[in-house]
Amino acid sequence: MKLVLATSNKGKVREIKALCEEYEVIPYSELIEEFEIVEDGDSFKENALIKARAVFKALDDKNVIVMADDSGISVDILDGEPGIYSARYAGVEADDKDNLYKLIDDIKAKGVKSSPAHYTAAIAIVTNKGKYCVHGWMHGTAITKAVGNGGFGYDPMFIPDAYDKTLGELDDEIKKKLSHRSKALSLAKIILHAV
Ligand code: IMP
Repeated sequence: MKLVLATSNKGKVREIKALCEEYEVIPYSELIEEFEIVEDGDSFKENALIKARAVFKALDDKNVIVMADDSGISVDILDGEPGIYSARYAGVEADDKDNLYKLIDDIKAKGVKSSPAHYTAAIAIVTNKGKYCVHGWMHGTAITKAVGNGGFGYDPMFIPDAYDKTLGELDDEIKKKLSHRSKALSLAKIILHAV
């Protein structure tokens, strides 16, 4: 089964391909020109559905299955920020490193060295038969330094519960088992079997 991803985020594409080896996973930018999608929803779910719907419409192929991932990190000491704003936390032009160091600085500014935090992933699926959305979460601790080069985004500052190393240091296989994305994708696969 062919799955078109409504994302060009290299980290997400790499992880989703590794977690969905039974499918042919294609980023939409390999089929049509990339276009701007305004993510103006109030939740991960709304933004995932906005992205999946926009790409489904643009592809104009009723046989295609489009999947979108909207995700981010929520930090307790920051009242859940950056949450749905994770990709643009340090500004619209910001890259992963800018966002990571802004989050480290903002936690430090609260006078602490770490805070409980969690990742959320909303996975939306859009086909000509319907629209679906599922979620997954990974809980842990956000620390005020970046350690390791593995994963992407905020991974070098995130220690999953029951571990003592960041996702930047841990093997990809561990993140594959634990992650918000892998949990959401397990549920998404149930839907994919049914559509
Ligand atoms: P989105 O593309 O609007 O869903 O933004 C997702 C952003 O959340 C990414 O750019 C990362 O900054 C962050 N993020 C989501 N999932 C992960 C992850 O698994 N590891 C690290 N950062 C993540």
